[in-house]
Amino acid sequence: MLYCAILNWYEPNNKLNVSNRYGRDQMLDFTFSEEQNLIRESARQFCQKEIAPKVRDMISARKIPDSVVSGLARMNFLGMTVPQRYGGMGADAVTTGIVAEEIARADPTASIPVMFLVDNAWSYLLSKYGTDELKESLLPDVARGRKLVGIASTEPDFGSDIGSMKSYANVTEDGFEVHADKSFISLVRDIKQMGGGYVTVVKTDRSAGTRGTSLLYLPHSDNLEVSYLEEMGREGSSWGAFKTSGEKVPKANLIGELNKGFHIIHEGFEFARGLIAVIAAATAQNSIENAIAYMKNRKAFGTEIAKFQGLQFDLAGNVARMEAAMTMGYKSLWIYDREQKGEGYTRFDVSKNMAIAKLISTTWAFDAINDALQWQGAYGYSKDCPEEWALRGVRSFLLAEGSREIMKVIIARETLGKEYMK
Ligand SMILES: Cc1cc2nc3c(=O)[nH]c(=O)nc-3n(C[C@H](O)[C@H](O)[C@H](O)COP(=O)(O)OP(=O)(O)OC[C@H]3O[C@@H](n4cnc5c(N)ncnc54)[C@H](O)[C@@H]3O)c2cc1C
Repeated sequence: MLYCAILNWYEPNNKLNVSNRYGRDQMLDFTFSEEQNLIRESARQFCQKEIAPKVRDMISARKIPDSVVSGLARMNFLGMTVPQRYGGMGADAVTTGIVAEEIARADPTASIPVMFLVDNAWSYLLSKYGTDELKESLLPDVARGRKLVGIASTEPDFGSDIGSMKSYANVTEDGFEVHADKSFISLVRDIKQMGGGYVTVVKTDRSAGTRGTSLLYLPHSDNLEVSYLEEMGREGSSWGAFKTSGEKVPKANLIGELNKGFHIIHEGFEFARGLIAVIAAATAQNSIENAIAYMKNRKAFGTEIAKFQGLQFDLAGNVARMEAAMTMGYKSLWIYDREQKGEGYTRFDVSKNMAIAKLISTTWAFDAINDALQWQGAYGYSKDCPEEWALRGVRSFLLAEGSREIMKVIIARETLGKEYMK
């Protein structure tokens, strides 16, 4: 009897009815739909066939192979969040997370996952808040993977502190005249080569801090002075800076309302954070699986090293943490979808859950990959070992789209209340 009750409790489609901190009943339902399972299956087949075998070459060439970019476009995975009326799939956050997970399992360097997550999170924001004119002119190309959308928030002197940023735009009769100096920006080379542009954070009222912040779509053009940065990992991806002084963009490129950009930019960051949580967890789970295969073969002191309890306990801890991180990643994306559809969660719930998901997943993934590398001895430290690539790639996620410390600031703010924030 008891056994049946326990089995029933563990049944995968079981729905857990809980109360959230506001006392409202919420149904946490993580069951993937039939359509989502089909998308996962085709994403897995594509990623294992078209991405996994090319990662080594990508690292040597320091560029995502053109065949991977065109394949992702063919599968409709680039710009998959773009609404169907513009040619996209109109994918929700959970479905985007499923594809992100499969890409991360195939590319441990984080290069292709980053192209995927940045493009999808920020084209979603553009689809939601862009003007009709901008959406009609841009989104069909984004949905076909012919153009990429990036995010340009960070500057040489300010990253976390968005309110202090210096880039600005003068409002003119026809639109805006942009003076921007942005740094540490992902995808700069890809956007220059493929086309597309950036959701760009600028001041449109320089005396008003965050209340004078607007978002503009700044397309790549020859007037952007682009430079590149060498980074620790993500060999296939690109990273750099751009400057422009007086670049004109039309009124139609304003995303959301004038001076209200600070309110909506977080919807882009939050989407990206949930995707990063799933990507980091998938990368770490992959590393753990690689290490397990190695530990079952490698012998020391007359037996397989997988039989040493000293390693088993560390393995068990990492398996448990990464399972929890993956669940939290999907929970955060699911809450994002509910809130976006007006189905019972608030913006505060989203901020807190995304921050928790990104914090635990990226921190634990870095530690788990480091352990997986350790269990593979000297081979783990070699450039030949995928855990060496993964460790450097996942390290980027402790900074990009909001640092580890800023995730803690958000969790503390949503737990203690705004009045306890300095
Ligand atoms: C690989 C990579 C890719 C990136 N891609 C992009 C991109 O595409 N677009 C883009 O706009 N930016 C991008 N960034 C920049 C990223 O968003 C910033 O690095 C991040 O927001 C932190 O800003 P910062 O580097 O200026 O550090 P700062 O804000 O100067 O912070 C320095 C340190 O102080 C900590 N800190 C800051 N404020 C607080 C606080 N209140 N309490 C406690 N600690 C605090 C930070 O966590 C950090 O450890 C990328 C960064 C990396 C590493």
